[in-house]
Amino acid sequence: MFLKLEGRHCIVVGAGAVARPKIESLLHANADVTVIAPEAQPEIAALARDGRLEWRARVFAPDDLAGAFLVVAATNRKPVNHAVAEAARTQGVLCNSVDDPPDCDFYYPSVLERGDLQIAISTAGKSPALAMQLREELSTMLPEDTGPWLDALGEQRLRALAALPPGDERKQILHQLAHREICDPQNCPVEQTLHQLLERAEEIAVLAAHPGTVYLTGAGPGAPDLLTLRARALIRTADCILHDDLVPPAILALCRTGARVVNVGKRCGQKLVTQEQIHEWMIEAARAGQSVVRLKGGDPGLFGRAAEEIAALAAGAIPFKIVPGVSAPLAAAAAAGISLTDRDRSSRVVFTTRHRAANEAGGVCAQDQGSTLALYMPGKDYAALQDELLGKGWPANARCVVVSAAALSSQQIAFAQLDGLAALKPLAAPAIILILPDRDD
Ligand code: SAH
Repeated sequence: MFLKLEGRHCIVVGAGAVARPKIESLLHANADVTVIAPEAQPEIAALARDGRLEWRARVFAPDDLAGAFLVVAATNRKPVNHAVAEAARTQGVLCNSVDDPPDCDFYYPSVLERGDLQIAISTAGKSPALAMQLREELSTMLPEDTGPWLDALGEQRLRALAALPPGDERKQILHQLAHREICDPQNCPVEQTLHQLLERAEEIAVLAAHPGTVYLTGAGPGAPDLLTLRARALIRTADCILHDDLVPPAILALCRTGARVVNVGKRCGQKLVTQEQIHEWMIEAARAGQSVVRLKGGDPGLFGRAAEEIAALAAGAIPFKIVPGVSAPLAAAAAAGISLTDRDRSSRVVFTTRHRAANEAGGVCAQDQGSTLALYMPGKDYAALQDELLGKGWPANARCVVVSAAALSSQQIAFAQLDGLAALKPLAAPAIILILPDRDD
């Protein structure tokens, strides 16, 4: 229940450190506040002097509750708080007794505010600290300008209600209005597209014709807490998610109910959905006005066929944005506790793969020597890799680090010198091999 406290007579018993935040939050809600306490903190006494509240400088008496809407028992003496709660119960006044849940009719929640949007978190008095932490977490998900956005949304809603007959179509419009891609304050559909649309006769047709955006989004190595806040917000709000096989269930669980979620990745090395089909689905969904997240492991721009998807989207005149992610070598280096560059040894990092497209001059080149190599999709034939690198002039004591499932619970790490790589038992996919120039010391 969100009580309207404006102008209501609210009593706080106590005027010390416990009472002060309660008094401040009542004043914030524009309540008519009376404080009862023989002594008061200077800040509270000052509020009384300024006429912001009334201070009765004496002990509490049950008659103080006459005409009150609610009372907060906030002294540091349990018996006093209890007596206040008893009096409140007898007189039918709502009571909050600080840190005493059985004597509370209501709790003070931890509140996150953005204008008229209020999110209140309660733990039934069990852990205000947890409620505060959750509030901080939620706070990172809501842009600062949510308040003004909500104001605009409120106006648009009234106009939509006036302009359109009740029914499913109107409901759908109202939902589309409220569907903000919360990661991007610039991208506010209310401001950008709908402001004028609802005034026109063909508003519904125009709305349907407005293409959604495709977000080529990096899911990072797989741990949900290594997603960027932007990726997370997009996943939570998307209408349609087309994801690779590498994206684990823990991340897909963030999708909203009702979102269309399709695995378009490879299974056991076999692509079940063609690249052209992926392009078609992305374009189709965007043309239907949906927010589409094309979700890829790591960073979308590394070994993820993003170039083809960008070209297809551009050809289809579909707006798209790229949301970066933590790529596998970065997660692998972090997991192994090593630095990819080293002031004394390597100031270049080469991202490459052994598995290359027919027309691509990829793989490992002799001139990469002296750089740190990050080998995506290294395969299981470590002996062939060892021979190839030694053959191209890599030193036998180059450091090799194989990381499988970096940042996931099944993570495995193996270290070897280059001349001992072949002896390692191959680790399960997805795995990455980092090869670092040797240390002479
Ligand atoms: N876009 C991805 C790479 C896609 S190619 C990125 O930026 O990371 C798929 C390859 O990435 C896998 O074969 C493996 O080499 C690597 N990879 C992806 N996730 C990984 C992880 N959690 N641990 C180790 N390697 C991973």
